[in-house]
Amino acid sequence: MSAKEVLISFDIDGTLKGYGGPITTKHIKKAKENTIVGGGSSRSVRSQWIVWQELGIKPEFLVFKNNLPRLPERYPEIKKFFHVDDLVLNIQRFTILRPREFIKNVQKFTYGGKNEN
Ligand SMILES: [Mg+2]
Repeated sequence: MSAKEVLISFDIDGTLKGYGGPITTKHIKKAKENTIVGGGSSRSVRSQWIVWQELGIKPEFLVFKNNLPRLPERYPEIKKFFHVDDLVLNIQRFTILRPREFIKNVQKFTYGGKNEN
């Protein structure tokens, strides 16, 4: 997949480092090089904004987790939607990744399996 055809949404609690999870700022920045990155959490958008500010990363979107199924309308150019979450979820059109699975395969998910550094 070429640039910006992948969107990755990140949960916060239980998912991000500093919030009980293993995903670091470095992982997110790596993903952001070639994909649309934002947040989808049960926290309010305002609360998510504060967390992302603390991370020092500007998200391209922030939504309440229940509104994730609406994102494909907003990004018609995106071919693949991922959501990284510590919970097992079923979200229409999204592939749900556990945080550890994301870390292990960050290259694959962000570069379509190509060897880029
Ligand atoms: Mg969570």
